[in-house]
Amino acid sequence: MENQAPERKKRVLSLIQPTAVPTIGNYFGALKNWKAMSEDYDCLFGVADLHAITVRQEPAMLRKQSTEMFALLLANGLDPEKSIVFMQSHVPQHSQLGWLLNCYTQFGEASRMTQFKDKSQKHADNINVGLFSYPTLMAADILLYQSDFVPIGADQKQHLELTRNIAERFNGIYGNVFTIPEPFIGKKGAKITSLQDPTSKMSKSDPNPKASVSVLDEPNMIMKKFKSAVTDSEACVRYADGKDGINNLMTIYSCCTGKAYEEIEKEFDGKGYGDFKVAVAEAVIAELAPVQAEYKRIITDTAYINECMAKGAERASRLAQRTLDKCMKKIGFKQI
Ligand code: ATP
Ligand code: MG
Repeated sequence: MENQAPERKKRVLSLIQPTAVPTIGNYFGALKNWKAMSEDYDCLFGVADLHAITVRQEPAMLRKQSTEMFALLLANGLDPEKSIVFMQSHVPQHSQLGWLLNCYTQFGEASRMTQFKDKSQKHADNINVGLFSYPTLMAADILLYQSDFVPIGADQKQHLELTRNIAERFNGIYGNVFTIPEPFIGKKGAKITSLQDPTSKMSKSDPNPKASVSVLDEPNMIMKKFKSAVTDSEACVRYADGKDGINNLMTIYSCCTGKAYEEIEKEFDGKGYGDFKVAVAEAVIAELAPVQAEYKRIITDTAYINECMAKGAERASRLAQRTLDKCMKKIGFKQI
């Protein structure tokens, strides 16, 4: 079938908030998969700086962390020629579609989001409307680009489900405007948990520094954090219900080495948690070494970072405007 037009590659979109340096949770749940997906799909990856202000940010820090996160995406091996790598606030269509979608989202459905409940508890002095409408902005991020797949960690599943509902509702009223996105959750690493409280997810904005390992942590720091990880008193490396700490370390080890849980159990048969923790830390150090080296190089090259940002914004904007125009026309806004 030589003369057939090539099928359009499926489109993938994912963003990460510049609230802190990413953790190994973000890395195994998102960043590592992004790199793999960028080989096979038509991808957009971005820094969700608009989302970050749902929690109060210090202006200079927000600016610094957004730039660092962008550099880290490049260091992670995303090719800005191939994928569209961009800063969310550089593409105003996100805020514009976000507003429109607010008007197609019910108060009741947004109230059910567990992230809203969690973050309102954590930031009781600043339960702003943006925190509440976070999922409609996330829906805009995804729907603007007619994304087919959204690689997310298990924590974002509920938001994606809401995005699908909003898109189906909108399409039901106005005809086929939005592609209905599917979640893309990696098998392992779908959820990495805190090293200090292994029943809750590892989160980059967790104020306890011992709870998470950042992708830019120095090797001796990584070793120290794993050595003090909370486990249990059984002293046997096996994956089982109720052994959240060990299960989490086994997941991390498996993400680094590709080994199955049974293999890991055999490897550490008869050995204590001390040996296992050292092995996990060493595997993580080796996994992160190339990303860290590349980051050190890129972060000093401001001209290159700015050039990549401008190119990403331009390409993303062009795609986003198409969807926004279509949407506004359908709703009934007067076009000039
Ligand atoms: P924050 O506390 O600022 O919300 P976060 O660690 O939850 O930080 P996000 O920027 O919200 O990070 O999410 C970025 C990506 O990382 C998302 O795709 C999310 O699903 C994924 N992710 C976040 N935490 C984990 C985790 N513990 N395990 C696996 N994936 C995760
Ligand atoms: Mg989060």
